[in-house]
Amino acid sequence: MKKTYKLKGKSVTIKPKKKIFSELSESFSQALTPNPPMTVSEWADKYRMLPAISTHESGLWRTSRFPFTKRVMDLLSSHEPCYQIVVMKGAQLAFTEIALNWKMYTIHYDPGPMLYVQKTLDAIKIFMEQRFEPSVDEMPIVRERIGNSSLRKSSGDTARLKVFPGGMIRFGGANSASSLRSMPIERLMLDEEDSYESDIQSEGSPSDLAIRRTANFPRRKIYRISTPTIKETSVIEPLFEAGTKERYHVPCPFCGNMDWIRWANIKYVNDDPNTAELLCEACGCLIAERYKTQMLSNGKWIAENPHAEYPSFHISSLYSPYGFYSWKDAVRHYVKAIRNHDNSSLKTFVNTVLGETWSESGKTVKASWLEGRKEQYVAEVPKECMVLTCGADVQDDRIECEVVGWANGLESYGITYKIFRGDTAQNAVWEQFDTFTKQQFRHGAGMLMPITCVAVDSGHRTKIVYEFCRMREHRYFFPVKGDDGWGKGLIDRPRKKNKYKVWAFRAFVDEIKSTVYSYLTISEPGPGYCHFPNIPEYDTEFFRQLTSESLKKVWSQGKYRLRWMLPEGRRNEVLDCRCLNHSALTILLPDFGKLPINEPIILNQRPIKRGRRRHSKGVNS
Ligand SMILES: [Zn+2]
Repeated sequence: MKKTYKLKGKSVTIKPKKKIFSELSESFSQALTPNPPMTVSEWADKYRMLPAISTHESGLWRTSRFPFTKRVMDLLSSHEPCYQIVVMKGAQLAFTEIALNWKMYTIHYDPGPMLYVQKTLDAIKIFMEQRFEPSVDEMPIVRERIGNSSLRKSSGDTARLKVFPGGMIRFGGANSASSLRSMPIERLMLDEEDSYESDIQSEGSPSDLAIRRTANFPRRKIYRISTPTIKETSVIEPLFEAGTKERYHVPCPFCGNMDWIRWANIKYVNDDPNTAELLCEACGCLIAERYKTQMLSNGKWIAENPHAEYPSFHISSLYSPYGFYSWKDAVRHYVKAIRNHDNSSLKTFVNTVLGETWSESGKTVKASWLEGRKEQYVAEVPKECMVLTCGADVQDDRIECEVVGWANGLESYGITYKIFRGDTAQNAVWEQFDTFTKQQFRHGAGMLMPITCVAVDSGHRTKIVYEFCRMREHRYFFPVKGDDGWGKGLIDRPRKKNKYKVWAFRAFVDEIKSTVYSYLTISEPGPGYCHFPNIPEYDTEFFRQLTSESLKKVWSQGKYRLRWMLPEGRRNEVLDCRCLNHSALTILLPDFGKLPINEPIILNQRPIKRGRRRHSKGVNS
């Protein structure tokens, strides 16, 4: 029973002894019980500061701005039992910031050994300079744990290692085996895994090499995240399929129906991006984008395979918060790619906006169908052509070349195809070829038109080709060597001349052939369409060779790869010449939009700018 006494005029209540003891012991035990550990999202909401220089919105991180990231971040918290988390995603969704949140959390709150891997060591260097260091500078509590800022001036391995009490973060490149195999790792992040080389320095896949480092940690955590690329060879898509397959479902503001945002439900009128809205399949309403914020904050992840071994997520850029990438932007990108039959832009859209893989297989074109399309040009070069290029394929005993005219929207016109026979180790055949390339062609507008750029295959007779091109650099002759690989654009521009003093270009033939074949399938004149002249050089053999290859999935060096294959006994010089013409045009990068229509253009001979690369037309991540 409580008793109340008067003491110096104030009333004092005394509780029975037993009760006092029980309350004391309760508060004592509360003090001894540790707080539940903080999750990565709780930590980020409390501490993470976004630097102004590298982010869209600076200041304190708010998970509520990107509500779909909360579950992913919380699974990264070390008290969560799952060992692997897979995210297949589009761009502009703050997943790079999540990666930084996890790193900062590891440094400041819950230390352990971590390895973070990007595509190349160069990419890692840029990431550290532009994202990691500015983020650390913004947060003194993190900076003081890494200490020693002089490390920032060091180079190589030391620069890519951050040590702090209880842990360290190593930054590795998927192109360098030595940067991946150094030490045991508890937390591993594989960023943009679909762009990794499949085999590095004969030690197997970079992902496997890094994952092996985690074997000794029972509480290991592997975070695998990527924008997908090609369906046939993607790493991230099969990982997503084998996991829980979670998609972020959001409520319709009108009927409350939960569904995920799919591209098929983005509706627009007359190709006008400003009309973009989301269709609710349940009530048939069109939802304006301004409802996105409220929809995202009331959304939840729903798993298709809830009993799978690990969580996997898919999310597209259509979820990018209001004020970032919009549905309008997505429609604009899509409509432009479709209008121009621009396959590479469409592929970028599917990969980086929808976060889905792009299938390359099934592209075949019938030779007879193309041959039946031959047409009588009014002039040698139709008046639509603004630039002429030439692509030359070099064999032991001959040089084969095609001249192609290019019009707006990359609509192309075959002009002529020539074969110069003779030993290509000797001068004579090269002289014939040189004389031919000096020729000018009668343009539909009346004037004579020269060839603006010549791409010569340097895979064979390499030194002779180098010397031939070096002497003709002022006429825009360039050696081009074919190389494998997807997702690197059409060509790689040299940063400087090679030791033979030429600008030697690399052409990614898989990607170029894919472009050539997608243009060949276009059946109506317009952007991308290929015209062929009704002249004897464009005979049945020409079209047989042009359509000779097909895409095949082949097993090589421990991984499936997608390669263009030539059936036995078939020849493909015509296809190679067409690819070299695409390379020549890409080297020139003419801005057709700024060229006068229906007038031949002789581009000024200008020096090549150093280090210029072909940029993706897609959205930035
Ligand atoms: Zn609805």
